[in-house]
Amino acid sequence: MKAAVIAAPKAPWEIRDVPTPEPGPGEVLVRVRACGVCHNDVWTAQGVFPFPSFSPAITGHEAAGEVVALGPGVTGRRVGDRVGTTWVQETCGRCGYCRRNLPLTGQSGMNCAESVMTGLNTQGGHAEYVCVKAASTVLLPDGLDYTTAAPVLCAGYTAWSALRAARPQPGERVAVLGVGGLGHMAVQYSRACGFDTVAITGSPDKHELALGLGARAVVANGTELREAGGADVVLVTGISYRSAADALQGLLPGGRIVLAAIDPNDSFTVGPASAFWSMRQQVIGATHDGLRYLTEALDLVARGAVTPVHEVFAKEDVAEAVSRTAAGDVRFRAVVTY
Ligand SMILES: [Zn+2]
Ligand SMILES: [Zn+2]
Repeated sequence: MKAAVIAAPKAPWEIRDVPTPEPGPGEVLVRVRACGVCHNDVWTAQGVFPFPSFSPAITGHEAAGEVVALGPGVTGRRVGDRVGTTWVQETCGRCGYCRRNLPLTGQSGMNCAESVMTGLNTQGGHAEYVCVKAASTVLLPDGLDYTTAAPVLCAGYTAWSALRAARPQPGERVAVLGVGGLGHMAVQYSRACGFDTVAITGSPDKHELALGLGARAVVANGTELREAGGADVVLVTGISYRSAADALQGLLPGGRIVLAAIDPNDSFTVGPASAFWSMRQQVIGATHDGLRYLTEALDLVARGAVTPVHEVFAKEDVAEAVSRTAAGDVRFRAVVTY
């Protein structure tokens, strides 16, 4: 099969011929039709996060396609099923975390001692075929095409899980910090639920785009958010925790700030002069919060309430898709077809 192989940390992604994987027990073989490029793929490929622990290194955790073969013991999926794959496939079931018997989520991926994570410690989806645990897949809604579904599998899933984690109440105002792969979907999910939604972006060229996605207003930073009336919820979807800390200036009493993205370079800090404590505010960490929420996120897209904005790249152009993602100039998700 053809796959986007990363020869070494920081090396450009190259389409190469590699052996087609065979599904093991509990796995399905998926003919990948589309796979999104997540910023975490970029960091993994650059070695900012641990470089894939297998060879050849193939990352990617936003793969959508159809099941073409079943491994031993698979009963819940059939050949021909249209599926979405996810980042965390399985946990060990035995470690201290697993003994808590929590659902399969991004949290379990990061806390289980031996979790199976797509594109990190097992082959990812930037390839014509990928084997994944059947139980970690979701059936795609009818009529939802693969390139539209792909960005939902991590970006949309993260954005929706973050909104859910904030538990916004009727009449509350939601601010979305960052208008990128996650943020452009978070703005839409918030609007789809009827929340007054404000986008926070330091990029003037994204103001019109954010308004078009459903934001009622766009502000540049926490000070402007406060001047615009503040927000009960701030969803941090950009990769700067410095900007996230700044956004606290616009968080209302009782407000929740949700860290849904990772800043590999900086810390999130509550400043010494902050009134955070007296305002009874909360900082919430959020990641993929279970296949139930991924299903909700996909259904809102299938119903037309939310539309991922993506640019489609042929597999031969995967290196360009990655470099443009790294540079932050994709509107808003690069999706590679295989
Ligand atoms: Zn991702
Ligand atoms: Zn475990």
